[in-house]
Amino acid sequence: MSKKLLITTLACILLLGSVGCTEMKAQQPHTESPRNVIMMVMDGTSSGAVALARWYKGRDLALDQILTGGVRTYSAESAITDSAAAATALATGNKTDEHYIGLLPSKITTPGKQDENPKHAFMPVANVLEGAKQVGKATGIVATSEIQHATPAGFSTHVLSRKQQEDIAEQQVYQGIDVVLGGGSVHLTNRKDQENLQNVIKEKGYQWVDTRSELQKANSTKIWGSFAEESLAYDIDRPATKPSEPTLAEMTNKAIQTLSKDKDGFFLFVEGSKIDWAAHKNDIVGMISDVLAFDEAVKEAVAFAERDGNTMVIAVTDHGNSGISMGNRQTSRSYAHTPVESFIQPLKKAKRTVEGALQDLKEDRSNIKQVAQLYGLDDLSNNEVRMLKYSNHVGADLSALLAKKANLGFTTGGHTGEDVFLYAYGPSHPTGYLENTELPEKMAEFMGFNLEKLSQSLFINAKESFEKQGYVTKIVQKEQYNLVFTATKGEVSIEIPTNKNIITVNGKSHSLNGISIFNGRDFFVSEQVKEFLP
Ligand SMILES: [Zn+2]
Repeated sequence: MSKKLLITTLACILLLGSVGCTEMKAQQPHTESPRNVIMMVMDGTSSGAVALARWYKGRDLALDQILTGGVRTYSAESAITDSAAAATALATGNKTDEHYIGLLPSKITTPGKQDENPKHAFMPVANVLEGAKQVGKATGIVATSEIQHATPAGFSTHVLSRKQQEDIAEQQVYQGIDVVLGGGSVHLTNRKDQENLQNVIKEKGYQWVDTRSELQKANSTKIWGSFAEESLAYDIDRPATKPSEPTLAEMTNKAIQTLSKDKDGFFLFVEGSKIDWAAHKNDIVGMISDVLAFDEAVKEAVAFAERDGNTMVIAVTDHGNSGISMGNRQTSRSYAHTPVESFIQPLKKAKRTVEGALQDLKEDRSNIKQVAQLYGLDDLSNNEVRMLKYSNHVGADLSALLAKKANLGFTTGGHTGEDVFLYAYGPSHPTGYLENTELPEKMAEFMGFNLEKLSQSLFINAKESFEKQGYVTKIVQKEQYNLVFTATKGEVSIEIPTNKNIITVNGKSHSLNGISIFNGRDFFVSEQVKEFLP
């Protein structure tokens, strides 16, 4: 305690008693700035894609400066994870099954990791964003895919299947996140339950933006940016195809600027979503484009962390994808004297990704040669041009032709199970060789909460809890596609809608500190409901 603070404290004890002291102490300037975490995921990015991006750029990446270790990515049911299970691991500290988001697994095949308690299956578990919110921090999520896609969903929601994008959208809207930037506007307005979530977002006081220039001008502490019906364009395509969309670095920068106004600090999740999509298509141009765009966002985050001094930055991929390799069957004998140029020069000719180039393809494919040229294929033989013109999978054929010219190999159109690099920066940042589930533990510890305890308070079994107190409970379909948990006892009638943070007691609504979840079997609510019972 400083001398000045000691004197102030003694004075206020003498003059005011302890209540006045607390007030006076609260006005003392902060000696330590609040703790922030920026968690960044480049989806589906094998180290081969990062190495190629570095050669393509011609100098070190921002990521290269903060390499600190390695991460194991396997899921509860496979040596190769999907993005939903991976996001659940990275956000909640629990390995789970394919498609599950924020729920415990029902099937565990990992040797020696069986869970004997059948009650654990499908149970919701708290994520680091929910924890940050509980300790008073501002929160944000940013992605280049639909914001309802598996990875951002893993950091904000709880659903049995990543395909429930309408449920994910609704949970995100009622989760109380301060900054949400990405694509996926279609899931806000074109919905089976007929709710217009865009209106709800505006009613909740968010500044709504849907272009790059509006985002730049936005100055509210709550911003919802939805820049595309589905995903945003690949970075290399954007200037030509979607110039009104922001870059990932711009979204990251705005999110940091906005969230850092909170005196309690912030948690921000950022995803470079479409590296994974390009990898599924073996489109090396898309992969490099968005690794470099992600790297620019990392540069923004680390620059802020350097200035701030109390911000932990983590960057990692959730899993490998495509088995990309520099070198393929045709370099089996020539690899040792194949110069960098032979890999990179063919790629440099491309002006667009496969997705971006195909947007210009005419229906009769009369311009297939020009489209191939956009993808860097400027010296195709007549046979190759004819093949593309009549191909049933023209995108895959374009990718394969470029890979061959650049001496690149792919082993699969799916994910892969290798370990991945860990990049981190700032105080208490994680280092060494870790399980993906250890990263959220480190983040939670740094921000000052415990994920397991949080799960127990945010997700109590509603039926068990209310029936213990003598209520009769039901789960009913009140309006189409919207489930409601009801509990009645004498004159008291309670309704809790799924996917929202609302409880209605005898017609009067209250906000809860968390969203209510139906996992297909049971209904879960925050234990805070007890405060609203008569
Ligand atoms: Zn993924």
